[in-house]
Amino acid sequence: MSTNPTADLGNMTLAALGDFIESLGHKRFHARQVYAWIWKRGVTDPEGMTDLPKALRAALASQARVATPEVVQRSVSEDGTRKLVLKLGDGRQIESVFIPDTPSQTFCISTQVGCAMACAFCLTGKMGLVRHLTAGEIAGQVRVLLDTLDMHDTPFNIVLMGMGEPLHNYDETMKALAMLAQEQGVGLSPKRVTLSTVGLVPMLDKLAAEPLMPNLAISLHATTEAQRVAIVPPSKKYTLHDILEACRRFPLAKRSRITFEYVMLAGVNDAPEDARRLAKILTGIKGKVNLIPLNAAPGIPFERPSDARVDAFAAILAERGVTVSVRKSRGRDIRAACGQLIVEGQGRRSPAQLLSEAMGS
Ligand code: SAH
Repeated sequence: MSTNPTADLGNMTLAALGDFIESLGHKRFHARQVYAWIWKRGVTDPEGMTDLPKALRAALASQARVATPEVVQRSVSEDGTRKLVLKLGDGRQIESVFIPDTPSQTFCISTQVGCAMACAFCLTGKMGLVRHLTAGEIAGQVRVLLDTLDMHDTPFNIVLMGMGEPLHNYDETMKALAMLAQEQGVGLSPKRVTLSTVGLVPMLDKLAAEPLMPNLAISLHATTEAQRVAIVPPSKKYTLHDILEACRRFPLAKRSRITFEYVMLAGVNDAPEDARRLAKILTGIKGKVNLIPLNAAPGIPFERPSDARVDAFAAILAERGVTVSVRKSRGRDIRAACGQLIVEGQGRRSPAQLLSEAMGS
């Protein structure tokens, strides 16, 4: 018998929930009902799960809980984008964003508190990695967005483009996608999910073998090794060359393509010759390019190129047969746009703080 009072039902796959319910002395098929209450209907209090036997409701109430990130701040942009600041069980904070009508409804979800990648143009990168999120915290953001926006019956897509590097938190990210895909719950097809990564090559190869395969977006941002190392530090280990090779061997469904994100930094990577080189290095890869003109912010030592410069870059790619789009930045006025997610005041703890926490003071 499990008597763990902190069992978190919100961090369990359907199978794990079945095991847990069995350990409480009940039939495991009830897991499907509980899963539907939590993930389909947004009911987290066992007392509200009215089709369960009374004894099971009581057991769940006393021995389990559903940890749900708490909304501590909401902002609405003039373009309709909404940003939620969410507080986790340990007090750490993350941000999740809702981007309406793009043309579909999109949730931008975080996978870590902070990020270890330290890209030179990204505010989240300035925080460093505070910690990984659990699968329950990753998928839980979707639950909170569905509840807060009253969207349980609306189709939506997910982009793993919030705070963090999803492939640096591989197992929890994949578990979260499996939890969200579960038909008894949200039933979100992995085709509706886009995972954006800086390109951690071994993890890309691992992803290539997954049964639940999200769409892939690669944050390329540069066309030469030197240029990429200067702005995306992990390139020291995983070169542009190796990333492109991993993309070449990545299995793609019939109509799908890899998205190559390219942040445009004035005077750094936005010249016509960069565009020509970009078209060249992508030759032979089923891909498309998404140009993201920099979202400038204090502390970010780069500038956004002019629209004319962006258009000229896009035109060169298009002339060479590369499918290209320019990302319209949403929610810049509430700092919800790409690279602008940062929650202040929770940086890495000092050794003294860690020690005092370990001592329980
Ligand atoms: N760690 C993942 C997710 C990051 S956010 C990744 O690197 O792909 C999604 C996109 O926003 C990435 O392509 C990232 O490079 C980009 N981005 C980061 N900071 C930005 C900024 N200030 N302006 C525009 N795009 C930015």
